Amino acid sequence: MPAADAPTLLLRNIDWLITVDPERRIIRDAAIGVKDGRIAWIGKSAEISASGADVIDCAGMVATPGFIDAHLHSSFHLSRGLADEAGAQSFLFDRMYPYEAALDADDVRISAQFAASELLRHGVTCFIDPGNYHPESSVEGALSTGIRMLVSRSSFDLTKSVLGILPERMIENTDVALTRAEEVLQRYARSGNPRLSATASFRGLNNASDALILGLKELAGRFGTLLQTHACFSYSTHDSSVARCGMAEIERLEKLGVLDDRMLIVHSGWLEPQEVAILARRKPALVCAPSSSLHNGYGNFVMGKLPELMALGVNVALGSDHASSGIVDMVQEMRLACCGYKEVRANPRVMPPETALEMATINGARATPWANRIGSIETGRDADIVLFDTNRPEWQPLINPVANLVYSATGDSVRHVFVAGEQVVKNGRCVRIDETELYRQIPRTVGRFSQRLKVKDMVQLRWPVL
Ligand SMILES: [Zn+2]
Repeated sequence: MPAADAPTLLLRNIDWLITVDPERRIIRDAAIGVKDGRIAWIGKSAEISASGADVIDCAGMVATPGFIDAHLHSSFHLSRGLADEAGAQSFLFDRMYPYEAALDADDVRISAQFAASELLRHGVTCFIDPGNYHPESSVEGALSTGIRMLVSRSSFDLTKSVLGILPERMIENTDVALTRAEEVLQRYARSGNPRLSATASFRGLNNASDALILGLKELAGRFGTLLQTHACFSYSTHDSSVARCGMAEIERLEKLGVLDDRMLIVHSGWLEPQEVAILARRKPALVCAPSSSLHNGYGNFVMGKLPELMALGVNVALGSDHASSGIVDMVQEMRLACCGYKEVRANPRVMPPETALEMATINGARATPWANRIGSIETGRDADIVLFDTNRPEWQPLINPVANLVYSATGDSVRHVFVAGEQVVKNGRCVRIDETELYRQIPRTVGRFSQRLKVKDMVQLRWPVL
């Protein structure tokens, strides 16, 4: 290799390198050379000179591409314990919308920093946020950790739906919602920061007018980005769409003419047969969010058709959704996706672990503006790399590293994480931020908004607290 191209960082002696490249190569005793934030060289450790490079010895480690969490509400990270045992309607209208309305800009910044730190520690190097009302605080909090993100401003323009009434602070008309969405796209979609971009977003079909959806689609097209929404995540969103519009959610999007591969639809669990046909024809990106469905029993595995849609060529990514359902760990989400579908179909072949890893990496990348830069470990791609420590029970014996990763491991075994060649997690701790200070700030922040939200009335513990 000519000296000018010599790596400045060398990850050497990697036991197993899972590339997720087009040939899906797995390389033993591997090395990755990094220069200017990109992957400059991949091969066997014995084949590359370490001269002039910073070297990290990765003996006993498995390397994967950084995971892409295709759906994570960074502003929900302070809501663990607030929305348990709640059906979809109660989850949204009794718990999470009031929670969201109670947050101020500082709360959202702390929540986003907390979310991004947990994502990074579990190997997520990029996430797509469906948005909230303080997107600038989400950006400030999340990017302080070194993660990549797609930010959004969340939009609703219908105060009432069959499902319920929005909190007053979240109510705005169509023009205001579109103007504010455009401001966010203007500021962040082409920010010049290679770790930041933006999408257009409406949070669900039941509180969105046709004019809002069409206006956001036009904005997404103008800024060359995605339009994202939640859809079909429980019987109640399906039934209320039929009650109000005379058609199911995907049928409505089809009628509006907004479905294409630049749309990202989260959940897509409750589908009628004609909606399956529409999705197979239009091929929007879909997001499987296992833990949020399992936590509150939304029925997305029982009713979902994601394995079939993948077989029909639809791109399906993976998302952890929010801390309200507990887990924010894409490693565990991979297992839940595989095992959830195996169980409800009584078929062990329906989703192998390799498919789950593709969903968490290369499929997620295809849904971002960085499809050719992230999602796999290939020469020329950005050096977004995760290293797992295999000197732990769940990683032994190590016969098939993809099976260990998906079926046995959790994100807790992540040792080092790199974003664009920068080490952002070292020995399991975030490098850029003071985690001790963050954990001091979290209870203070929750204490402040809990008074506004009246959390004591919202959550009654079943067991006595003395
Ligand atoms: Zn969500």
